[in-house]
Amino acid sequence: MTERNCDVVIVGGGPAGSALAKDCGRLGLEVLIVDPLANEPWRSTFGTWVDDLDDRDDAEDLKRTLRVSWPTVHVVGARRHQLSRPYGFFDNERLRSHLRDAPEHRSTVQEVVRDREADGLVIRCLDGERITARVVIDAGGSRSSLLARQRHHEGGVQSAFGIVTRNAPSTYRECFTLMDWSVVHRDPSFLYTVDFGDGSVLLEETSLYRTRPIDAQTLEQRLIGRVGVDVPRESVEHVEIPMGWGVPSFSRTVVGFGAAAGFVHPVTGYSVAASLRATRRVSTAIDRAIAAGLSVEDRVQHVWEAVWPSNLRRTRALHQYGLASLERFDGHDLQAFFDTFFSLSTQDWSDYLRIDTPPATIARVMTKFFARMSWSMRLKVMTANPLSLLVGR
Ligand SMILES: Cc1cc2nc3c(=O)[nH]c(=O)nc-3n(C[C@H](O)[C@H](O)[C@H](O)COP(=O)(O)OP(=O)(O)OC[C@H]3O[C@@H](n4cnc5c(N)ncnc54)[C@H](O)[C@@H]3O)c2cc1C
Repeated sequence: MTERNCDVVIVGGGPAGSALAKDCGRLGLEVLIVDPLANEPWRSTFGTWVDDLDDRDDAEDLKRTLRVSWPTVHVVGARRHQLSRPYGFFDNERLRSHLRDAPEHRSTVQEVVRDREADGLVIRCLDGERITARVVIDAGGSRSSLLARQRHHEGGVQSAFGIVTRNAPSTYRECFTLMDWSVVHRDPSFLYTVDFGDGSVLLEETSLYRTRPIDAQTLEQRLIGRVGVDVPRESVEHVEIPMGWGVPSFSRTVVGFGAAAGFVHPVTGYSVAASLRATRRVSTAIDRAIAAGLSVEDRVQHVWEAVWPSNLRRTRALHQYGLASLERFDGHDLQAFFDTFFSLSTQDWSDYLRIDTPPATIARVMTKFFARMSWSMRLKVMTANPLSLLVGR
């Protein structure tokens, strides 16, 4: 068995953990990423609104890691919308090499315990490695086992069945469609299409968040119904994105970050840009907590407050309320819902789609949105789960 010491251990080297490790390193902290998959490529296709990267100092470098971007985005409800807000998809290898500059240890973290004598933390890994650190960050993704989730928010999934093809029908080429709700189902799903610009097109039938997911076979049948049986498949994917979680309980040893900390937007399922935007405030808090010589408990508390400041916990509660309403809508409601949502100003709907928008702004956008809804939709929204407005910790 070996032993190492460092300032910060980051459990998980996905986009969130890598970005935070890089920022901690820039502040002069000794940081180590622990991940059994540290050398593996990131498999998911990460998309982002391009202006969501603007808050970072390295925004222009990050934009250069996009494999493709579009100046406009299509959404189809009962009407077609062309949104003038650029959207892009990362080239995972380029993004990884831009973000990843911290040393790595390839193993799984089994537990993190207090070392009372040294007023530090001990990380025990599956391979027997024992690491001591001043701060431990859990960036282990949505399925991380180191943090407890809030019980009053039921987690669900967004499920999708998709194919990548080099022979997509022309309607799906040279464009990006975020959501197409034109085919109405009682248990609704939408079509998501991406032309990657290299001849390959992703066509994906996707549900919004559901506590009971739509199965892969149903989604596949719906996809075939839309695009036809003849489209040759280069690859097939069935994904379930865990989402809908509230803010995790604030552990007294480990601080969450990224998807592990509930950064996945309750409505969109996105977290990458939100994690990239949060690294500065969180790395600064880690640096200050260590420099101030706070006790482990106070260090952990201080960093949690940077991960989820109280105003952003209120924002999350408002988003959870929106999510509870969405689950009650059928296909026709959703067409009307998105037609109304995207008739708001670009600034308003963009603010709503970020987890770090101040709660007063979210409440203002929700009020404007509510005023434009039909009475039947208002009723469904008003009677949605009020428990979701609980701001817990
Ligand atoms: C199919 C799919 C598509 C998605 N598309 C988008 C999208 O387009 N845009 C977007 O913003 N978001 C998207 N998301 C949501 C979210 O952004 C991703 O899940 C993203 O990968 C989260 O990044 P992360 O760094 O927080 O965690 P992850 O990328 O999940 O990384 C976690 C890492 O931690 C490691 N780990 C876990 N437990 C331990 C442990 N105990 N010890 C050591 N290591 C551990 C894992 O091996 C993993 O490498 C998508 C999610 C999925 C599943």
